[in-house]
Amino acid sequence: MIQALLLGLGLGGILGLVLGIANKEFEVPEDPRFEKLTGLLPGYNCGACGYPGCAGLARAILDKEVDGLPCKPIKPDARTNLKEYLANTPGPDGKTIKLK
Ligand code: SF4
Repeated sequence: MIQALLLGLGLGGILGLVLGIANKEFEVPEDPRFEKLTGLLPGYNCGACGYPGCAGLARAILDKEVDGLPCKPIKPDARTNLKEYLANTPGPDGKTIKLK
C-alpha cells in the first residue's frame, strides 16, 4: 500500500516536472498588442468580420491572416485610430502592421 502511494507520488512528481519544462520550452510569447487591439475594435462580437468575435479578428490581424480590416460596424474614426496604432506599435518581432 505504501509502495503504491510512493510510486504514485514519484510518477506524479516526474510528470509534473516534465510538463513544467515542456511548458517553458514550448511557450509562445503573447503579442502585447493583443489586448489593446481587441479594445480598439467595437466589442459587439457580432461575427460579421468572419471571425469568432472581436478578439478573434484581433488575433487574425496580429497573425497576419488579413491585410484589411473586415469589421463592418467599426466607425471611421475608430478605424483610423486602429490603423495608426498598428502602424506605430511594433510587435515582438520589431515589425509594425500596415492594414489597407
Ligand atoms: S465585425 Fe467588428 S464588431 Fe463584429 S465581431 Fe468582428 S471585429 Fe467585432
